[in-house]
Amino acid sequence: MAEILDYFRKERLPHIWCQGCGHGTVTSALVLDFDTLHTAHGRAIAFATGVKHAKPKLKVIVMTGDGDCAAIGGNHFIHAARRNIDITTIVMNNSTYGMTSGQYSPTTPHGMLGTTAPYGNVEFDFDLCELAKAAGATYVARATSFHVTLLQDLIEKALMNKGFSVVEALTQCPTYFGRKNKIGGPVELLNWIKDRTVNVKAAAALPPEKIQGKMLIGELHKVERPEYTATYAEMTTKIQRTFNDYKGGNRGCELNSD
Ligand code: SF4
Repeated sequence: MAEILDYFRKERLPHIWCQGCGHGTVTSALVLDFDTLHTAHGRAIAFATGVKHAKPKLKVIVMTGDGDCAAIGGNHFIHAARRNIDITTIVMNNSTYGMTSGQYSPTTPHGMLGTTAPYGNVEFDFDLCELAKAAGATYVARATSFHVTLLQDLIEKALMNKGFSVVEALTQCPTYFGRKNKIGGPVELLNWIKDRTVNVKAAAALPPEKIQGKMLIGELHKVERPEYTATYAEMTTKIQRTFNDYKGGNRGCELNSD
C-alpha cells in the first residue's frame, strides 16, 4: 500500500529555497491542510478561477509571486478583483523575479538593480494593494516576513472575506535582490523591508513627512459587494427556471411580460 511519502518528491524536501529566503516564513504563516495545484507561470489566478467556478463551495487560495501576479498574470489579477470572485490571493513580493535569476519585476523600486537592470530600474513600481483596491478587490492588506503575527492575522481575515481578497507579503530574496543591491544578507534585507513600512494605524497619527516613501502595512481596504460565483449561480438558476417554464408550456410568460 502506498505511503503518504511516496507522493512526495523527496529530493525537494524540506524545501527548495535558498537559506534566508522569506518564502518559507510566508508559507508558514498560511500552513493549512489543503490540496495543491501547481500551474503554469502567471496563470495561477486563471486556474483558481476555473476551480472556484467548478466547485464554488471550495475555499480557494492562490500563492503567487510579484512577477507571476503583476506581470505575466497581471491581467488575471485585475479581472479577478473586478469580478470579486471568492479567492484569497497571497502575493509574496520580493521585488524581483527571484526564482528565475533576479530579473526586475513590476514591483522592483525605481533605480534598484536586477540582472536585467544592471544600471538601475528605469521603470516605476506598482503598488499592488492600490491596484487591487482600484480594480475591485473587497479585502486588501499588507504585511511583511518580519511582521509574522500581523501576516497570520491578515491571512485569517482574508480567508474569512467572501470575495476577492489580497494579502501582499513583502519578503526577502537575499540571493538576487539583496546581493545585487548590496543590501547585505537576509537579516539586513529583512531590516531594510521593515524600515520601508509603517503600520496604517500608526500612520494616521504621523505627520506626512514621516510616512513619505513608506509602504503601509495592516488592513488597508475592506468593503462588501456581491461575490461573483454566488451571482453566477443565481443567474444560472433563473435561466434554468425560465427554460423549464418554456418546456412546460408557459411559453408566453417571459416573452409577453411587457
Ligand atoms: S532565489 Fe531568492 S526567491 Fe528564490 S529561493 Fe533563493 S532567496 Fe528565495
